[in-house]
This record gives sequence, C-alpha cells and structure tokens, in this order.
Amino acid sequence: MTPAPARRLVLLGATGSIGAQTLDVLARYPDIARVHGLAVGGSRPQLVVEQVLAHRPEQLVVAEPERAEGVSDAIDAACRAAGIPAPRLESGQAAVTELAGSLGPGDVVLNAITGSVGLLPTLAVLSSGARLALANKESLVVGGDLVTRAAAPGQILPVDSEHTAIAQALAGVRPEQVDRLVVTASGGPFRGRTRDQLADIDPEQALAHPTWAMGPVITTNSATLVNKALEVIEACFLFDLPEHRVDVVVHPQSIVHSMATLIDGSTIAQASPPDMRHAIGWALAHPEKLPGLAAALDFSTAQSWTFEPVDETTFPAISLARSAHREGHGAMAAYNAANEEAVAAFLSGALPFLGIVDLLSAVLEDPARPRPAASAGVDGVLAVEDWARAAARTRIVQESAR
Ligand code: NAD
Ligand code: MG
Repeated sequence: MTPAPARRLVLLGATGSIGAQTLDVLARYPDIARVHGLAVGGSRPQLVVEQVLAHRPEQLVVAEPERAEGVSDAIDAACRAAGIPAPRLESGQAAVTELAGSLGPGDVVLNAITGSVGLLPTLAVLSSGARLALANKESLVVGGDLVTRAAAPGQILPVDSEHTAIAQALAGVRPEQVDRLVVTASGGPFRGRTRDQLADIDPEQALAHPTWAMGPVITTNSATLVNKALEVIEACFLFDLPEHRVDVVVHPQSIVHSMATLIDGSTIAQASPPDMRHAIGWALAHPEKLPGLAAALDFSTAQSWTFEPVDETTFPAISLARSAHREGHGAMAAYNAANEEAVAAFLSGALPFLGIVDLLSAVLEDPARPRPAASAGVDGVLAVEDWARAAARTRIVQESAR
C-alpha cells in the first residue's frame, strides 16, 4: 500500500457541483492530498455517506444544524456496517469556519460553498497559512481588500475557469507588462434575446445552461450575467487591476476560458473543452500538472470559435457591478446580497426573471444604503449585507403583492 500523502485537504461544500468534482479529481489523483475534513449544507445525506465511505475524512461539519441529526444517523449506520470509525461531526456555521481554519502551511482548503456565507471561512483559511483554492468567488467580491490583504502572495488559487485561465496566461508575465484582461462569457441560455423576450422566463428555462452543469445559484447568475459581473470584480481583486482594464467578450463555445492582452499587443489565451476538473486540478496541484486530468481539444475535425460583444442593454448586470465596484464602501456586498435574495425569490416563483437585476439596481440606488469606511472591516461588510438582504426582501414582498 502506498502511504497516505502528508498534505491534508479540507473541502467546504463537498456535496455541490464543484465539491463532487473535487472528490472525483482526488479519487483519480490520491497523491495530491488526503481528505481531512468535509463541510456540507446537509440537504443530501446519502451523498455525504458515499463521500465519507470513499474518502474517510476525520471531520465532518453540517452547516445547517437542523439537518445534522439526519446526517449523523446515516453516517453512524454506514460506518458501523463498513467497520470503519465515523468522522467527528459538528454542526453550524461557526464550525464550518473553524474547520476552514484548522489546517496550516503546506495544506489546502477548497472553498466551494455558494454565497457570501463563504467569507468568514475564506478569511479563516488565509490566516491559517494553508493554500486557498477558491471557487467561492462571492467571498472575494464581497470582502475585496479585506481578503486580498489577508492573503500571502500566491496563497489564493482561483477555481473559476476564467481566472484559472488568466493565471495561466500570466505565468511568467510581470504586472507592468499586462495591458488588459479579457474575460470570456458563454452568454448564457438567453444570448441574442431582447429584454422584452425575457419577461416570461421561468426557473426551468434559466436553469438550462448551454455549456456548463453547475449549482442552481451560479446557473441563474449565468442567465442574468450577474455571474460574469462577479467575475469581472473577482479578476480586479485577484490580478490587482481597475475594472476598466477587465473586458468581457461573449464566446458561446466556452473553449477559450479567458485571455490576457500584454503591452506589446499580444493576447494570450487558455483553451480546453469546458470541464471544471481542469480548474480544480490546476488549483490543487499547482505548480505541478496532472497528466490526463481532462480531455484536450481535438483539432482533427473542423470547429469554429466565435467572439461577440455583450448586449449591455438587455443584460445590465455587468455595468451595474462596475459602478458598484468603483464606488466601493460595501456597494459590491450590497449588490451580491441583494442578488442572493433575488435569485432565491426567482427560483421559488416570487420574482420574475427581469426582476432580479431590477432589484439589484433599486437596492444600490436606495439612499438609506449604509456606506461603511474600509476601517469598519468585516463588521462593516456584514452590516451592509444584512441591510441589503432586508431591503431586498421588503421589495420582493411588495413586488409579489402587486
Ligand atoms: P452548489 O449549490 O452545487 O453547491 C454548494 C455546496 O455548498 C453544497 O455542498 C451545499 O451543501 C454546501 N453549502 C451550502 N451552504 C453551506 C454552508 N453555509 N457551509 C458549508 N457548506 C454549505 O454550488 P456549486 O455550483 O458547486 O458552486 C459553488 C461555488 O463555486 C459558488 O461560489 C460558485 O459560484 C462557484 N463556481 C462554481 C462553478 C461550477 O461549475 N459549478 C464554476 C465556477 C465557480
Ligand atoms: Mg466562471
């Protein structure tokens, strides 16, 4: 038997789309790290059981306390039947953050939680000294400088196909040699439609993404282009550039994952078939490369890659985010929190599709929005979020009463 690798891994959001693909990569490349701990929301106990049996973590955290008992019973029974020790189980959001911060230099934590609830875990990883493989873009977008200042150089490795692509395009390039970044967007399921044609979109239509299979929030965000908006801001923080130097181009085939244009006029692109295991494996193994990680492009048949500008009139989410980011003072935290509320309302049938971005715009324009100074730190961010969630919910109730 080969000895278990010394490097430990904690996976936050294990039962989600990124989480499950991460365990897939680890099963195929067991030398990357051994699984020390998993954190899950708790809504899929059977999948947690399978993951525990396959990866034998020492610790398991269920974020939603009311689901902990169900998960615990299922795990205990399965581990007893398999004759293996059950992992130590804790529950609640504070336990997720504690698990996130429990490793150290040389280890890795992959944060694949959905939503800005990932912020405190992200900060906990950074202060522990472990590598942060970051799929939870919301924590970076919402925390901004708080997150980048807490990170040592190279400590954050993005798990987002666009940013993984840019990081690869910039390998060996000095910051002053970068002119601009070009983030590619599939355009989502409603590319080419006018605003009027989006009035009656229902959740089923919004959840049918043309090129990627992902969790429900990011899939909805891809349909509104809020996901691309978050990614522009994510790129600003990861690569330390102002938003006007981060362009977006629609590329429906999702093969060129993003690009960097250098001061000498050369554009460097990273291309591969759409498969998130590429980004996951890159972030876990960097600077090593995993042989056969994902399928490569096949040029033996004809193919075309097309590029077109974003229709900013039909999809105003990106320009709204650009101005919120320029404003600072927690405006992006308000944007993201209002969006999380709006998406939940849309998916439950309480808000029309076009109501999502309209709601972001209304919450951002509200003169009562708190504008904390940078010195307010994480408490300032959380206060804006609380306010924006409440403001969004009030508007959603008013909207559905109409
Ligand atoms: P998902 O909804 O499929 O999974 C989310 C996971 O988080 C689930 O395991 C859920 O149980 C867990 N969870 C929920 N609340 C939690 C909490 N408070 N603490 C711990 N775990 C909690 O989402 P996803 O599509 O895997 O996306 C995860 C993150 O990765 C998002 O930030 C998304 O934007 C980003 N991302 C996803 C993709 C993709 O292809 N799916 C690509 C790029 C970036
Ligand atoms: Mg992406």
